[in-house]
Amino acid sequence: MNLQMVDLRSQYDKIQSEIDQAILDVVRSTRFIGGPEVTGFAEELGSYLGGTHVTPCANGTDALQIALMALGLAPGDKVIVPAFTYVATAEVIALLGLHPVMVDADPMSYNMTADHFREAIQDGVKAVVPVHLFGQGVDMEPLMEMAREHGIHVIEDTAQAIGAHQISGGKSHAYGTIGHIGCTSFFPSKNLGCYGDGGAIMTSDEDLHAKIKMIANHGQSRRYYHDRIGVNSRLDAIQAAILRIKLKHLDKYNQARRAVADAYDSAFAQMDLLTTPHRSDHSTHVFHQYVMRVADGRRDDMVKHLQEKEIPHNIYYPVPLYKQKAFAEFSDVDFLPVTEALCEEVIALPIHTEMTQEMIDHICNHVQSFS
Ligand SMILES: *Cc1c(COP(=O)(O)O)cnc(C)c1O
Repeated sequence: MNLQMVDLRSQYDKIQSEIDQAILDVVRSTRFIGGPEVTGFAEELGSYLGGTHVTPCANGTDALQIALMALGLAPGDKVIVPAFTYVATAEVIALLGLHPVMVDADPMSYNMTADHFREAIQDGVKAVVPVHLFGQGVDMEPLMEMAREHGIHVIEDTAQAIGAHQISGGKSHAYGTIGHIGCTSFFPSKNLGCYGDGGAIMTSDEDLHAKIKMIANHGQSRRYYHDRIGVNSRLDAIQAAILRIKLKHLDKYNQARRAVADAYDSAFAQMDLLTTPHRSDHSTHVFHQYVMRVADGRRDDMVKHLQEKEIPHNIYYPVPLYKQKAFAEFSDVDFLPVTEALCEEVIALPIHTEMTQEMIDHICNHVQSFS
């Protein structure tokens, strides 16, 4: 059985003729940089998200860096960020000479909450980067309210949650469009992935949009006139052409992921050792990863068990960011209890758009045989 954490080959097989044609069209056009595919994709993603300006860029890490650069922060300014996330979120903060203030996670959703944010607000805090981890969103409503009250900028890291929505008062808002700026990644394994690197920055603020566009393009205001220090961060036209096709399938892809998660949830509901992923009331879940917790210090036994049964699995994430050598100089925190527990208890199972009932049953049977 072809079990993988993500199966991009089977997904490609189903859309092959369309993708191949789109790639060939770009090659024959020789518009490799910029051009109609890139602007077309930016517009289509903007309307898919409910209407926002989209600036495509080279990857999700660049998106975060450019977003921070656009806020005009001064060296040493503090930025609140979860300690339980992929390194990129905090890395760009440190890279720009800013100071990451790491906060704990909610044990159910694995996300930082508005409470964590409030407790971390202190002199010098200018921004916060909530991360919508594994495909489920932070409750942005109380967080935005508090940010407004304290004049703090909000950058959403939507790299794992594109297509997920905040639900409040019967209304739904796409994650990535609620904060002042949203950032996402099109790394191949993300819910909306291209065939290389890619990313995008979202904002509905006209001034920020203009700054972001300028920063992503060498700080250029018009050709060969540079108003500020920027970077070179572009989405290739070939990647944009691929993303235009895959965007049309994104809701269906996310639905396929949810169906796998539903099957796992019910298969493991009676297993006392396992806590399946919580579904928040305020957010839909697009299951970038299916991450459950294994109790009683048994996670590493589960890893061994799955290895023996040849079931793919992964640990997202094994080390809190404040314990990474790279962040040693930022010594505000050295222990966050929920983050520590998650690093020791989480395990991710295969979840992707091409899983068959047979694969799901096979994985469920082997997980259930763990004792
Ligand atoms: C993937 C990811 C990023 C970085 O995206 P790249 O395109 O790999 O640079 C940032 N934040 C989170 C939470 C991610 O999962």
